[in-house]
Amino acid sequence: MVRGIGLKVLLVADGAGVLCHTASLVTSLVRTGLTVRLSLTASAQVLVGPYFGSMLSGHPVLPFEELDENGLSGYDAILVAPASEKAIKEMCESPAWNGVRCPVLVGPGLLPKDDNADAWDELDATISAKGWKLIPAGIETCTMGALGELRVASTERCFEEMMVAIGKNDLKGKRILITTGPTAEDADPVRFVTNRSTGRMGVALARMAAWRGAFVTLIHGPMSWPIPPINAIRPVPVRSANDMYMATMELVQEQHIAILCAAVADYTPVEYSDIKIKKGQDATFALLLKRTPDILDAVGHMPGERPFLVGFAAESDHVHANAQSKLQAKNCDMLCANDVTKPGSGFAVGTNQVTVFLRGGEVRELPQMSKEDVAGKILDIVSERMSLQ
Ligand code: C5P
Repeated sequence: MVRGIGLKVLLVADGAGVLCHTASLVTSLVRTGLTVRLSLTASAQVLVGPYFGSMLSGHPVLPFEELDENGLSGYDAILVAPASEKAIKEMCESPAWNGVRCPVLVGPGLLPKDDNADAWDELDATISAKGWKLIPAGIETCTMGALGELRVASTERCFEEMMVAIGKNDLKGKRILITTGPTAEDADPVRFVTNRSTGRMGVALARMAAWRGAFVTLIHGPMSWPIPPINAIRPVPVRSANDMYMATMELVQEQHIAILCAAVADYTPVEYSDIKIKKGQDATFALLLKRTPDILDAVGHMPGERPFLVGFAAESDHVHANAQSKLQAKNCDMLCANDVTKPGSGFAVGTNQVTVFLRGGEVRELPQMSKEDVAGKILDIVSERMSLQ
């Protein structure tokens, strides 16, 4: 995944937190193709020595105390994490830091003695007043041995927020609803009907949309793929097709774009048994199923204004014909079809090969790519069709 080529960021790290935080953060940023410069405070340099940061980033470490107006210019974004209260105070008082024009993200790191709700509220107020963005710590901690648990946003959260900060922003201000994952249709407290979907394609769409400035409502069934920790993604967990239908119809009104990518169960048990269904004497057992609501169809035909609508179709035969008729029947603006029988396409793999069918008859065949790259291309087409580019 190479997205940072041509962009340059500064990572500032302070205090003992560098021991558990900085190596993986620099590495994940460098891996995206970004040019990363690392700046360490004097206390951080006592702990890690002069070669640490230069080996990781490929550039000499810049001393934090010497960062002047010149030293802080030329970056696409600056991330300060872990940031001690002392470092934040120094930044706030420094004319050089006050003159920074690119996005500044601050992930405070608090030791147990300073970690309380008031301290976080105060930091939030201080950082926001400067127009910088606070990366809150949530429940994540770094184990600092003798010093205890440093509470600081995880390297994953810092990385994701950095990618949002340097993103191309063509979807800024857009609200996108995405459904993903399987649904689970309960028959009794123990058994349910489901499918092989992991939710990975929809999560990739949510992540790429958030990186491009959108606010994403991610309605997902019980899925195995993790949701990246990004502030701009609001997860809405549901279980059954009916739950997903209710959540979607409630939240879809306020959206600019809806991408319905979930593998919704088409049928659900007619009856739910409150007690576990007992094994009988017969060699066979029949579970009677009924149709679930078709969410894509309902959004496609909702009265009044509706969002730009993207459907998905996992097909195993007659992919083109099925996709064209689904696009029309469900009144979508765009339908992404993939042949689930092809290797490297469909469920539980990291890649996908999608053909995009557009209202008006245009068809665009995308090559096989990682699901994140497929997500990027789909969003490019959405952005182009909505004339956002
Ligand atoms: O008709 P089919 O299930 O193949 O259509 C697939 C598309 O419809 C996907 O976008 C899927 O998320 C959506 N869908 C839905 N509600 C259903 C079944 C499918 O939104 N009950």
